[in-house]
Amino acid sequence: MPLLTDCAARNMAKDEMLIKSGDTNNNVYLILSGSFNVHLTADNSDPVTILKPGQSIGEIAVIDHQPASAYVSAAEDSRILIIDEEVMWSLIGSSHAIANNLLVVLSQRLRHGNSVINKIKGLLIEYEHNATVDALTSLYNRRWLDNTMIRVMHRCYKNHEALSVMMIDIDRFKDYNDNYGHLSGDIALRTVSQTIKQYLRPVDMVTRYGGEELFALLPRLDIDATLTIAERLREAIKETEIANEKGQPLPHVTVSIGVAEMIDHDDPHKLIEAADKAMYEAKHSGRDKVCS
Ligand code: GH3
Ligand code: MG
Ligand code: MG
Repeated sequence: MPLLTDCAARNMAKDEMLIKSGDTNNNVYLILSGSFNVHLTADNSDPVTILKPGQSIGEIAVIDHQPASAYVSAAEDSRILIIDEEVMWSLIGSSHAIANNLLVVLSQRLRHGNSVINKIKGLLIEYEHNATVDALTSLYNRRWLDNTMIRVMHRCYKNHEALSVMMIDIDRFKDYNDNYGHLSGDIALRTVSQTIKQYLRPVDMVTRYGGEELFALLPRLDIDATLTIAERLREAIKETEIANEKGQPLPHVTVSIGVAEMIDHDDPHKLIEAADKAMYEAKHSGRDKVCS
């Protein structure tokens, strides 16, 4: 190929940067030896891809003249052939084989780009899940509640539906930890959380509000219906068996539940406070009780 003989070769030391994101670049680089890392960010994160001898770098920028969208640096001492834009177009014009190769390279880039996007999408879903779900109980966390409660309230109000809430607090849980250990306490808390989830409807939203305080949003239920459900839930929790990590039975726990119904659809704090106040009333009247 006579044109290629005019192209210069360049040695690159390990970690030397060939292309930075944002650079405009008029060359295609053909890797003769060594390898190159492609990063999406300037930090030392894992490369999204590693390019080997025979592969090329920079062909997309030469075609569309857009600034580079990634960082490319030598992964080891390497050698490249520098093919400038004019030479590349002459090569494409004069050889079907080269034009074909370029198409293959570009479609591989596209496929790889799609697989990177899918991987990132998966990670985003995972991060979002971790940011809104409590790791111990698998219930929503406080942050989720802070972001969502007002929207649930507005939706119920707009649909002329009632909305009730429950504040559920495990009784004498400090003693439970002191007597049976923190790990058993964790298991008891997880078991109570599961019972609540199983007992309530799929449309109900259960949050770990604080340490051993759980908070449930129950759309389309007024206070009377909620009181009945809370009473049955209290019984169900009291009867739920708890086993330690070795499968040995632990004592059951009881809960005190405060119930309230939405009046002011613009004030989540007021509704939480009302349920909290009712829960403390249940505590003061002897625990293992439901109050409104
Ligand atoms: P009350 O009936 O008045 O609610 O008594 P209590 O002991 O449950 O209440 P207190 O607020 O005095 O103590 C709460 C306890 O809950 C103390 C804390 O160690 C425990 N706790 C909170 N979060 C966790 C957790 O994630 N795991 C475990 N094992 N214990 C927790
Ligand atoms: Mg408690
Ligand atoms: Mg508490």
